[in-house]
Amino acid sequence: MKITRIEPLVCHARMRNWIFVKVHTDQAGLYGWGEATLEWHTRGVVGALEDLNGLLIGEDPTRVEHLWQSMYRQHFWHGNGIVRGTAISGIDLALWDIVGKVHGVPCHALWGGAVRDYVRLYCHLGGGKMEDFYETKPGDAKRFAELARKAVEEGFTAFKSMAVPETMPLEGLKPIRYAESCVRAMREAAGDGIDIMVDCHARPSPAMGMQFAKALEPYGLYFFEEPCWPEQLDDLAAIQQAVSTPIATGERLVGLESFRDALAQRACRVLQPDITHCGGLTQARRIAALAEAYRVALAPHNPQGPVSTAASLEFGFATPAYAICESVHNDVPWRQDVVKEGFVVESKGRLVRPNTRPGLGIEIDEDEVRKHPFQQEVLQRSFNPDGSVTDW
Ligand SMILES: [Mg+2]
Repeated sequence: MKITRIEPLVCHARMRNWIFVKVHTDQAGLYGWGEATLEWHTRGVVGALEDLNGLLIGEDPTRVEHLWQSMYRQHFWHGNGIVRGTAISGIDLALWDIVGKVHGVPCHALWGGAVRDYVRLYCHLGGGKMEDFYETKPGDAKRFAELARKAVEEGFTAFKSMAVPETMPLEGLKPIRYAESCVRAMREAAGDGIDIMVDCHARPSPAMGMQFAKALEPYGLYFFEEPCWPEQLDDLAAIQQAVSTPIATGERLVGLESFRDALAQRACRVLQPDITHCGGLTQARRIAALAEAYRVALAPHNPQGPVSTAASLEFGFATPAYAICESVHNDVPWRQDVVKEGFVVESKGRLVRPNTRPGLGIEIDEDEVRKHPFQQEVLQRSFNPDGSVTDW
């Protein structure tokens, strides 16, 4: 069996272009689906996929590890940058999909079988609608409470919010009080039985991140995500040591060594590899083995498209340390038109039962994808009140 073609299919989904990767083989009807979505880098990833062609065409798609090594190590430049890492990931997912189809079993069955009966989903506040998640403004505690109530009404037992505002490297009490009022409002609206997460988007400086972490500690967050840049692992570690709230990071890490360092420095209690960036399922399984040695939970980053979600779930059903699956459902109204999924989501509790179809268990409707051709992503730029650049 041979790989004959690597085909990217770009689907504009408002905030991001989903980059689906179809790996064709010389066997009639046998192909795999992957995803290599990287916001604001769509052309770069599509080009990187093309650059990888020479390593793959004519090769046996079932030699996944061998091909992964080739994609990561050959062409001299290692695949530990975000663009190449994302391209490798998209292909790796499609290769695993093919292997599952060859053996007629879901991917999680290839990796030792299901280790749990279900995976729990968490949603973004607003379900992935860009304005609700990213554009809530200071003084919006009431809005946070409303959206929290809505998530619970929709059956979710866990949700994530961005209740920490953008801040200058050093600010006074105002943003701290703002974050606290939003989290308090969500906790009062949702009750103690619901798991609330706050994502700082790695916006704060370490000094501000420490203050936010301490101020929000009494609200019992399920996890507190990226209170400072992930490049500053020693600062993340200092914050983790100062509070009992589990700190989460990992969505921007590529390369096994970065994950090793985060674990060895005790920078987090929750690791969030992005399966479409970190090197795919092949790399995510190595990261899981590292995490197990530290008893750190895994909650893969997954705000992208439906192939990414299917991959996260297959990984979750085979990985003991997997805690919860990130999901979006309101990003575009036609999300479910693009994909047929092999798993079932129970509306009460938003629990996912295992996929029973081969591979990742999904089928992409290419006619639907063609209705949403590439468009430049909405520009997201953030500036401090004095005009200086800050993180979005
Ligand atoms: Mg995040």
